[in-house]
Amino acid sequence: MEKLGYSCVLASNGEDAVEKAKTSEPALAFFDIMMPKMSGFEAAGNLRSLGYKKPIIAVTATFLPEDEEKCKKSGINDVLTKPIKFSEIKMMLEKWLVPVREPQAFDLMPTGPAESAVSGPEIFNAEEMLSAFLDDEKIVLPLLSRFIERTSSQLENFPGLKATGEWATARRDAHTIKGAAPTMGSAELGKAASALENACINASAEEAETAYPHILETFAKYRKEAEKFIFNKSGSERAVLKSCDGKITMSLACIHTHTVFCDGKDDIETFCSTACEKGLQSLGFSAHAPVFAKTGFRQSLGFSAHAPVFAKTGFHTDWHLADERLGEYLDSVRSAKKRWEGKLPVYLGLEVDFIPGLMGPADKDYREMRLDYIIASVHYVLPPKGEPFTVDGPPEEVEQGIKEGFGGDPMGMVESYLDSEEAMIRAGGFDVLGHPDLVKLHNKKKKKKKKTALAALLAEAGVPSELNTGGLNRDKISECYPSLDFLKRFHSQNIPIVINADAHRAVDLDGHYEEARKTMLEAGYTETVIFEGRTDDKAVWKSEKL
Ligand SMILES: [Zn+2]
Ligand SMILES: [Zn+2]
Repeated sequence: MEKLGYSCVLASNGEDAVEKAKTSEPALAFFDIMMPKMSGFEAAGNLRSLGYKKPIIAVTATFLPEDEEKCKKSGINDVLTKPIKFSEIKMMLEKWLVPVREPQAFDLMPTGPAESAVSGPEIFNAEEMLSAFLDDEKIVLPLLSRFIERTSSQLENFPGLKATGEWATARRDAHTIKGAAPTMGSAELGKAASALENACINASAEEAETAYPHILETFAKYRKEAEKFIFNKSGSERAVLKSCDGKITMSLACIHTHTVFCDGKDDIETFCSTACEKGLQSLGFSAHAPVFAKTGFRQSLGFSAHAPVFAKTGFHTDWHLADERLGEYLDSVRSAKKRWEGKLPVYLGLEVDFIPGLMGPADKDYREMRLDYIIASVHYVLPPKGEPFTVDGPPEEVEQGIKEGFGGDPMGMVESYLDSEEAMIRAGGFDVLGHPDLVKLHNKKKKKKKKTALAALLAEAGVPSELNTGGLNRDKISECYPSLDFLKRFHSQNIPIVINADAHRAVDLDGHYEEARKTMLEAGYTETVIFEGRTDDKAVWKSEKL
């Protein structure tokens, strides 16, 4: 919108949209149909009843025939189908704002995407696609990848839908492809989808017999061209990290990342494209593993204090991957792996918490998922009294935890943390040790002997540790995990080190790597290691000069 010269107000959900539209009275409102908290239909209805008279445009990925009635009822004037291109937004604004006209009743689709700008005989016209997005490759590349993925699965589903007579669903899919294809550079594919849509409208298996193979063939050609385009665009910038003075220092990777599946801010695709832009050698996803056992674990540990309360509330957090989304997470990373093949090695992992008696990387649940790697991390301490708490939580909570759980002695917390780490390393089942001294975040107390012992134990396990810049990236602390002192102990035991950003946003993917590199040199390291996948159920690491 800003590129088109308009200023806009953003709303994060349906309720917020009504609230903001009420106060800022925009000249036009775009409402996603599927907004959280309140749907676009409901929000539009509410806004109309509050007296808002300006145009309201619905934005949707799929427009069902029955939605037309809902639009009319709720006071929506027009519809844009996703993915949306700039020219469509522009047309919509021209249609409804210039010259200013009062919105009439529902006026659907004279600007329908199939009739719009993109033309030309090629199966994939990259130039037209780009120009529709004002040549903004950052926007186009992830959209194009998503379109390919979505279309591919829709086409795969078609035979099943046909067999069970689900023509309405099949029609909706064909309609979505028809709407989006011209935007994504293929009028041809749009036409093929239109033929398939007609077959669905007529519920004609006979028509589908020609339309379906035709669209498959068209899509295969399109996909080849489009993927070549993605490869060339994102591959060209893959290089190596340059330090501030432009001198090449080292190549990078990051296998400690959190997306919107747990407590991260960006989605998988954004992480992949950003990793490519930043020239990362590879990228791994490590959502906070779901906590399977939900209740009663304190009893099983033999702690009686507070156990009933804990058992009643159950053990749940808002920063771990939810059980019910696990499958979706695994599928999404595996699909990104395929999508980025040849451009960016993508790995599937989890950051598994070790909580004595409740969960740990050695649990067979995680092994059965066929992950590429597991990062083993301790976030919780379990005090002999009181509730378990996270050592990187808000300072007040940590303070309270120390007070209630360890009789006010911070050393108790540090010891308990390092004990858990020891137990975790002994139990095994992981490939990288995560942020070994996270506990220092709100407590600087040192336990030198314990750290030396941990280093020896880790060396015996033959597993690398990470040097984690996450605290620096989030401005929480002024050094990496582990500290220089701890790192030196690792070095004396020849423990390989993986540099990781613990990125919760794609932009942090290589955050503070230069500092990490310097810390490693200072600790005596000359090499770091980069993850290269699994063979014979063992992680493979490649050395990289610092
Ligand atoms: Zn962590
Ligand atoms: Zn993490």
